[in-house]
Amino acid sequence: MSLFNRHKSEAPGGKPTTLPSDLQDETAKFKAIVNSIEDGVLLLDSQHTIQLINPGGATILGWKAEDATGIDIGNVMRLVNSKSEPVKEQDNPILQVFQTGQSGRSEVVLITPDKKQVPLNLRLSPLLGKNQEVKAVVVVFNNITAQQAEERQRADFISTASHEMRTPVAAIEGYLALALNEKVSTVDSRARNYLEKAHSSTQHLGKLFQDLLTSAKAEDGRLTSHPAVVEMGAFLEQLVDGFHLIAEKKGLFVEFSFGGSNTINATEAGTKVIKPLYYVYIDPDRLREVITNLFDNAVKYTPEGKITIGLTGNDSVVQMYVRDTGPGIPTEDIPHLFQKFYRVDNSATRTIGGTGLGLFICRKIIELYNGRIWAESKVGEGSSFYINLPRLSTQKASAMQAAASNSVSNPVNSVS
Ligand code: ADP
Repeated sequence: MSLFNRHKSEAPGGKPTTLPSDLQDETAKFKAIVNSIEDGVLLLDSQHTIQLINPGGATILGWKAEDATGIDIGNVMRLVNSKSEPVKEQDNPILQVFQTGQSGRSEVVLITPDKKQVPLNLRLSPLLGKNQEVKAVVVVFNNITAQQAEERQRADFISTASHEMRTPVAAIEGYLALALNEKVSTVDSRARNYLEKAHSSTQHLGKLFQDLLTSAKAEDGRLTSHPAVVEMGAFLEQLVDGFHLIAEKKGLFVEFSFGGSNTINATEAGTKVIKPLYYVYIDPDRLREVITNLFDNAVKYTPEGKITIGLTGNDSVVQMYVRDTGPGIPTEDIPHLFQKFYRVDNSATRTIGGTGLGLFICRKIIELYNGRIWAESKVGEGSSFYINLPRLSTQKASAMQAAASNSVSNPVNSVS
């Protein structure tokens, strides 16, 4: 007889149960289990009122269980955002479950009654009625302060180690480049072949350390950022100019496509073409890093065809994209592409080197400027990587540029 088929009042071996009499009935068993869980457990009714909270949950929230029961969840679990402002109702993951009926997980920051901020991990499960209405929601949560501290320590270790290792690797790369330079060294063809291989592996190692360093910084919010007003049309055009040579080396064609909803298209000769000015507020070096990464991937994974770098937008959004005619990405991999170390497992990625960090870094950078990055792809047809950034009106952009140049020429007036 399996463990699960055994009669409920019998213990293994057919002996009578050893549970004491006060734990025999189902309610008592349920209470004993819920009360002994260290994680928080909450049961909310359809009005968002706490119907049950276990002692573990009460401790995490800084309330007494009997005081919290019968009170609206919003008054007991007060959440704040990264700027320490109260989380708006529409952004509250618990209230979202009441609206969507979907289970989910979320990381939030709680502000306790004695004003301490505590990071929490929430697991949210709706209890649905016959008509799929949300009858109640169960929230299981735990304090992740220690976990976050460990993650920070790990990131610190990675950034220190990669920083230290990057320096000697850069020196090796430099000396190998000198050895390969015919003006300063003489090597025979066999030695040149070995040195070229060593040089390319060293470059790969250098890129890996650089990516590790950047991703560790991105994770703990230490990415440096010097945002400025950037006009995307001119910025991309200049960037694409530099891309032609790289792509042509592999026999790929590169084009820049400019098309906005309010572009005045004029094909007849003599008609002036007015292109909209797409202003964004971003660190140009970081943006260059992102677009170059997407372009390098397009070149790396596309054996033949075309790479298109595009720019479009509307009143509130500027959209850039990098499109290729490569092998495409399977649908099941698309949601994971921007995770750390994720690489699609196919013959192309096995033979083409990479770290799986590039797209993770791109996402972190774009999110820093309240943007969104995503991919669309069809296997056999190609991939498109999109970036949406908030658009600045021309008026706002000019005002910000004027203020910036004013603060440079009058450093006394500058606000830092
Ligand atoms: P990697 O260093 O492996 O290129 P990325 O984070 O830049 O790391 O990309 C993650 C994975 O996404 C890659 O390993 C590859 O499988 C896939 N990928 C990225 N860009 C493309 C592309 N343009 N075409 C096909 N696959 C791509």
